[in-house]
Amino acid sequence: MSDSQKWLEWSEHYAAPNYHPLPIVIEKAEGVWVEDPEGLRYMDMLSAYSALNHGHRHPVLIQALKDQADLVTLTSRAFHSSAASLFYQKLSQFTGKSKILAMNTGAEAVETAVKAVRRWAYRCKGVPENQAEIIVCSGNFHGRTLTVTSFSSSPEYKKDFGPFTPGFRIIPYGDVEALRQAITPYTAAFLVEPIQGEAGIIIPPDGYLAEAFALCREMQVLTVADEIQTGFGRTGRRFASDWEGAVPDLWIMGKALGGGIMPISAVAADAEILNLFEPGSHGSTFGGNPLACAVAVAALQVYEDERLAERSERLGNYFMKRLEGIRSTAVKEIRGRGLFIGVDLHVPARPYCEQLMSAGLLCKETHETTIRFAPPLTITEDEINWAVERIEQVLRD
Ligand code: PLP
Repeated sequence: MSDSQKWLEWSEHYAAPNYHPLPIVIEKAEGVWVEDPEGLRYMDMLSAYSALNHGHRHPVLIQALKDQADLVTLTSRAFHSSAASLFYQKLSQFTGKSKILAMNTGAEAVETAVKAVRRWAYRCKGVPENQAEIIVCSGNFHGRTLTVTSFSSSPEYKKDFGPFTPGFRIIPYGDVEALRQAITPYTAAFLVEPIQGEAGIIIPPDGYLAEAFALCREMQVLTVADEIQTGFGRTGRRFASDWEGAVPDLWIMGKALGGGIMPISAVAADAEILNLFEPGSHGSTFGGNPLACAVAVAALQVYEDERLAERSERLGNYFMKRLEGIRSTAVKEIRGRGLFIGVDLHVPARPYCEQLMSAGLLCKETHETTIRFAPPLTITEDEINWAVERIEQVLRD
């Protein structure tokens, strides 16, 4: 039995089956490449759902991790740390918001935003107690905690997990008129993904975000952009909302904020909103820990130094053009922004992902029929050519 077979068997035997991974074991990685225990190399075109924008084990980030590990890794929020203070300052400058609240996972940051906008509704807008509503979009994916699951429109995410948290209203994605009709005096906020990732790289109509945010401002409704998957250059801009110059009241960030090394997420907003959390009202033991903060500061620096957003736009355009040149009757549509590309098929995508894996390329289906290509933003044109050759072999008629 090979090492890979053994680890696969152990994983299947001992791990809860809440994922359906491809049958590959990754033992090491560098840049866009990963390697299994037998030494076979694969190109990573998933990037841990866009958490690895900087590539695997970026040397600057690994150095920051080691340096901080030699100083202090955890203080809890009972005390201050220099690494956390630096992180708050850098992320505040990066987002243009005056306050930062750090958590660990994306879903936790979404929960944080939900709590913040509810507080704002009661304390600033004057919504009667327990009546606040948050408008979300169908097809949304904001994480897996119970409150976040409560406002999913996918029955498979909710089945047998009830009862759910009330206070959410689901409207069609990309439809400003539906938003206008859904707003009531009790509406606290509109929570939206600027591009829906898990739904299959769904790009809303041009101008949607700018118009929706303007409407919300006019109606005294907060806007919340979930940029957990689309942030930090993934779509060819700092945030996907930047494509429309749309600035939300709250940014939610995660994934690539930690450089693919440490889990760290955050909500950025102005003091008027985040100062509504008094001591004791919210928190997390590991939220804003020095180790994660030090890596995040380095990740923000590498994002700037290596111009990851520009890279993503340029190489994304190139990748899209090459993909559009593939003749295949299986392909229904190719859509994307930057290095965030979905290839929609007429048939289930899983078998294609398995064939691509055999050809040395790792990617994952999303929503049955879409293959998502989201390589590290550090990928080169030569590496894209290498990938396109394999994709063409697998998709070609
Ligand atoms: N929001 C969006 C848009 C996401 O894509 C994800 C994860 O895929 C999340 C939230 C949840 O993040 P996490 O898995 O870190 O909880």
